[in-house]
Amino acid sequence: MGRPKGYKRSQESIDKMVATRKRRGNYCHTDETKKIISITGIGRIPWNKNKKSPQTSGEKNGRWIGGGYIYLHNLAWKKFGKDYCEECGINLIDYYKENNRRFDMHCMSNPKDYTIMEQSNWMCLCKNDHGKIDQEVNEQ
Ligand SMILES: [Zn+2]
Repeated sequence: MGRPKGYKRSQESIDKMVATRKRRGNYCHTDETKKIISITGIGRIPWNKNKKSPQTSGEKNGRWIGGGYIYLHNLAWKKFGKDYCEECGINLIDYYKENNRRFDMHCMSNPKDYTIMEQSNWMCLCKNDHGKIDQEVNEQ
């Protein structure tokens, strides 16, 4: 379990790495990030296990929730998942180690249409920011 102490890179050095890669124009996920994306991408992580999702109420039926809803979020994660939270910038590796889950994919369209597989329809968020944003949307 776990990595030896001293393994963890500082956020600053990760930021520098990312900035360097972006400048070179060949930014891509690190091997570790790829690994986490592939682990979480196949749905082994029950990411919404303890969370009462607002989408489970209302007119949508259970079959859609169990099938399409999770499937489409996983698909969006694989396509548009980032290795940082788009709101607060927390790093995926740190987040995964603490929470044992990937980031949430937040559907931007209103009303929500999970079938739109375009970058503009999805935001990659940690659970804290996802909760905040969902609350704002619900209050509107
Ligand atoms: Zn965040």
